[in-house]
Amino acid sequence: NAPVLTIDGPSGSGKGTISRRVAQRLGWHYLDSGALYRAVGVAAGWADLDLDDHGALVRCTFDTRIGFRDDAAGELRVLVNDVDATDELRTETAGAAASAIAAIPEIRAALKDRQRAFRQPPGLVADGRDMGTVIFPDAPFKVFMTASADERAQRRYKQLNDKGVSVTLDGLLREILARDARDAQRAVAPLRPADDAVHIDTTGLSIEDVVEQVLALVPR
Ligand code: C5P
Repeated sequence: NAPVLTIDGPSGSGKGTISRRVAQRLGWHYLDSGALYRAVGVAAGWADLDLDDHGALVRCTFDTRIGFRDDAAGELRVLVNDVDATDELRTETAGAAASAIAAIPEIRAALKDRQRAFRQPPGLVADGRDMGTVIFPDAPFKVFMTASADERAQRRYKQLNDKGVSVTLDGLLREILARDARDAQRAVAPLRPADDAVHIDTTGLSIEDVVEQVLALVPR
């Protein structure tokens, strides 16, 4: 079994950026599990599905092709049914839809094998909410990453602004807190640290500092 480093935490904690860099440094594969939930949410939107129609959403989960590739600039692009949906996936609307469907147990179950298939030699860095608790409970390396709510909103604000998406910091802070509350309170796979996770608070830390802290957990 290839080694896995799981990095879980709330939105804007820095886990996406850190996970990708750590995976590059280790030469390991990378799983952005949130992108799977976002992709299903977006596909459901394209198909005009009702977010209350769980049967249709579960069928949509099985029917949606989700692909990842790196573009020339080394950025991760996400293909939903062969269409590059990366920009749409990044919006907070897609995040909220992902969070709504991620509370449906059958959808989480339907995505389990797809996530575990990323575990390939020489190793995997898996980023999400339940990587260390549900998907890879036997992972030898686990991190739970947090940051203050203000800083998380600021980071998301900057990310979206850089992409030309118009948002207000206030609105974003409210949306992020609502999404975190839903992720933490849902009945199935709620956001919580694995018992054996190392906690890292990234508030005020540079990306490079956090990358080094995480790399220090993996003996090489
Ligand atoms: O990480 P990201 O912000 O892209 O995730 C979007 C949403 O998908 C989260 O708010 C959460 O509801 C859901 N998610 C999840 N389990 C994961 C990853 C994401 O429930 N492993």
